[in-house]
Amino acid sequence: MATPCTLIPGDGIGPDITDATLAILDAAGATFDWDTQVAGAAGVEEKGTPMPDETLDSIKRTRLALKGPLETPIGEGYRSVNVALRQTFDLYANVRPTRDLVPGGRYDGVDIVLIRENTEDLYAGLEHNIRIGDDPQAAAESIALITRVGSERVVRYAFEYAVRHSRKKVTLVHKANILKNSQGLFRSVGQKVAKEYEAKIAFDERIVDAAAMELVINPNRFDVIVTTNMFGDILSDLVSGLVGGLGLAPAANIGRDAAIFEAVHGTAPDIAGKGVANPSALVLAACLMLDHIGDRFRADRIRRAVESIIRDGKVRTRDLGGSATTKEFTDAVAQHLA
Ligand code: NAD
Repeated sequence: MATPCTLIPGDGIGPDITDATLAILDAAGATFDWDTQVAGAAGVEEKGTPMPDETLDSIKRTRLALKGPLETPIGEGYRSVNVALRQTFDLYANVRPTRDLVPGGRYDGVDIVLIRENTEDLYAGLEHNIRIGDDPQAAAESIALITRVGSERVVRYAFEYAVRHSRKKVTLVHKANILKNSQGLFRSVGQKVAKEYEAKIAFDERIVDAAAMELVINPNRFDVIVTTNMFGDILSDLVSGLVGGLGLAPAANIGRDAAIFEAVHGTAPDIAGKGVANPSALVLAACLMLDHIGDRFRADRIRRAVESIIRDGKVRTRDLGGSATTKEFTDAVAQHLA
């Protein structure tokens, strides 16, 4: 039976990589009952709002969404729809698995899953300007909200993930040496949860700046990383960079009542409409979605097909040093699956 799923093609390269992903899912025989909706800039254009009620209602109904990247105006305009979706559906864990697929890159054998708290911290949206005299923005204040409940559920998710996927170690990344209250709370809750798993999963911790350096010098020492929202946002892009860039990095946003799957990258305005975007990140996000609904067989088949085409090297998109178009890459993966 087809699984009901909300589909948000997104902005910029979003529609191109979404079409590619649907073609590859189709070639693998995965059947979804898509409910196509708009958000972001497309939402503003079609429905006058970046987050239309119809889109939210659809996700409430299906509890599952595959989402292309959405444009967020910088510094002004509407708030990030991505952040709003995570908060609306309480998608507390952002899961970003990264493996090196391109041989001959900077590192071999990178296989890191970064799990980032997704609703709190500096991204909770608690910020305001402070007027002094005539200057309405003489200062600005953002609050990094960390809660015991929020910390516990994401660290527990990381350990459960490690158990489910036969991983060996969870590293908690923090800045508790400076932010003794907020980051200190995340760290102490994490240490407590880690104790419950000590017979099965190893645990260690790193201060975020040291973690950034070690990720660059010796990424293979990391297995599963769990961290707070902003550190996770930054480190996950760093980890994608270790293995050949954003074009290969998928993400899952997991909550109790809904899950949204997306590429880590954005709308890539510099290449939008040129037909050269690498669709792999969204395709791999669709694989995480197949895992989530229990179709590990098709997820693994698609992952193997994408890997095989990339490793083979004849059909690669420009971001991976090739010259293939989105369509040529998609056709190659689909043929591999046929
Ligand atoms: P970006 O990820 O869109 O682009 C960064 C660089 O990576 C660009 O050079 C781009 O061409 C390249 N790139 C990204 N994806 C690629 C792909 N699939 N294939 C080939 N090359 C690819 O980041 P940005 O330029 O900082 O952001 C552009 C817009 O995207 C902004 O409005 C931002 O808010 C939004 N954004 C959305 C999401 C999301 O929806 N999850 C995530 C990040 C950024």
